[in-house]
Amino acid sequence: MVNRVVIVGGGTAGWMTATYLRAAFGDRVDVTLVESKRVGTIGVGEATFSTVRHFFDFLGLDEREWLPKCAGSYKLAIRFENWREPGHHFYHPFERLRVADGFNLAEWWLAEGTGEYDQDCFVTPALCEAQRSPRNLDGSLFAANLDGSLGRSTLAEQRAQFPYAYHFDADLLAKFLAEYGVERGIRHVTDDVLEVGQDERGWISHVRTREHGDITGDLFVDCTGFRGMLINQTLGERFDSFQDVLPNNRAVALRVPRDVERLGINPYTTATAAPNGWIWTIPLFARNGHGYVYSDEYCTPEEAERTLREFVAPGQDDLQANHIRMRIGRNERSWVNNCVAIGLSSAFVEPLESTGIFFIQHGIEQLVKHFPDERWDPTLRDNYNARVGHVVDGVKEFLVLHYRCAQRNDTPYWKETDLRPIPDGLGERLETASRVLLDDNGIYPYYHGFELYSWNTMLLGLGAVPPGPRPALPLIDPTNARAEFAGVRRDAAQLVSALPSAYEYLSSIQ
Ligand code: FAD
Repeated sequence: MVNRVVIVGGGTAGWMTATYLRAAFGDRVDVTLVESKRVGTIGVGEATFSTVRHFFDFLGLDEREWLPKCAGSYKLAIRFENWREPGHHFYHPFERLRVADGFNLAEWWLAEGTGEYDQDCFVTPALCEAQRSPRNLDGSLFAANLDGSLGRSTLAEQRAQFPYAYHFDADLLAKFLAEYGVERGIRHVTDDVLEVGQDERGWISHVRTREHGDITGDLFVDCTGFRGMLINQTLGERFDSFQDVLPNNRAVALRVPRDVERLGINPYTTATAAPNGWIWTIPLFARNGHGYVYSDEYCTPEEAERTLREFVAPGQDDLQANHIRMRIGRNERSWVNNCVAIGLSSAFVEPLESTGIFFIQHGIEQLVKHFPDERWDPTLRDNYNARVGHVVDGVKEFLVLHYRCAQRNDTPYWKETDLRPIPDGLGERLETASRVLLDDNGIYPYYHGFELYSWNTMLLGLGAVPPGPRPALPLIDPTNARAEFAGVRRDAAQLVSALPSAYEYLSSIQ
């Protein structure tokens, strides 16, 4: 039996893994988590993906229970600013496109659109600009406000695709999950792992701690962050860097207090293009997290810090900047022998689409699905590795598209976005997209979290617009499509007037 799991690392990855395994297997599997007091966590962020709700649902946690404890807020979209040209912005929402006569509204927009793609096709941008909450004060979801006719298909789809994700303080979430996990029987050891022991086959037999002796187990989960203490340092697994296609390798972050009562809380993450990368703005309850993601080929940490301070907090020189070196890429295999790496030790791409926690959640869900028994069937391991690899590679492609299609070219950094290599496969997709909008067959073919609407939203938002609609569209009566566009406008206006502000709702659950 494989029933003793040892997790090394107590950041978001460690605690999400520990609590999820406990929820999945109960006391049939012992879970021990070892975390150092000396080595800190990455300590930034976080903006998440809408699938994160499944994680909390699986643990049986109501959002009203944990969100206020983690300075949490809502995220309906990512707002991309200045990626096309200074002053331009568009939203990438958690909202699928409506369909008329078999063609989605992105297709119809090329024939019938009246203004900006995102505002014409989605209700979410209007909610973002009006700082609305996705929930009514009675706790019901905003989709319930839409009336029957055009709202019905949206309602059904929102059941499949949840309309929002969260922003939260990752350290507070790890603390919350630690308390939750320990109450449910997770053994928590606060100590440094000094050495990792291996048996004659090279499998991990134990971890040696400073004060608690040797901790033995069957399966070891490496959640030690970028250092990959078990998977890379001990087992020597190769890490494939993505820096040739995604050159950003550093970030500098600031925590900036905000008077949310006066200024409200934006229900979206912002990614603002900057001279040598981009700046995130993550609104939490009572403060904003900001960070400049850049490449040290183009600017020094001092220059980056200066740019960030000027952008977010002129005059607040007392705020402490956190400089971070990022390891961009993935392990060739995240599961080697009896060790599975989850979190930054497994893979990371820059947080442009908030995929760090998404990768963690995906890794854990797949670990449960592929959990081994004493036979350690290599098929389980190989399938796990293939799935994890596909998710990360798909997101890599999607992020490279952001840079390749951005119209901005005012600095060497942005000029060179057209000259950098791109992953195999993406070139063909972009070639297709220059003639017609992508369809389901045109996007990265394996599950990677992003659907067709996201690919086309980024293409159209960034300005990579095909020369015209599909030839079929001018031959189809546009009445139904026009009704759908009108429905978007009507629903957006109705929701903006009916929903409370994000601040109002969030204060009501503190
Ligand atoms: P860490 O937080 O680094 O934790 C490592 C743990 O290992 C710590 O507890 C440490 O004490 C322990 N440890 C290390 N060595 C030892 C040892 N020898 N003995 C015992 N314990 C040890 N993700 C998102 O989803 N959204 C975002 O907006 C986002 N923004 C990000 C911005 C930046 C700049 C970076 C770098 C990452 C971002 N991420 C984001 C990713 C996200 O932060 C991580 O995926 C997440 O925090 C998980 O980190 P981790 O637990 O893998 O590693």
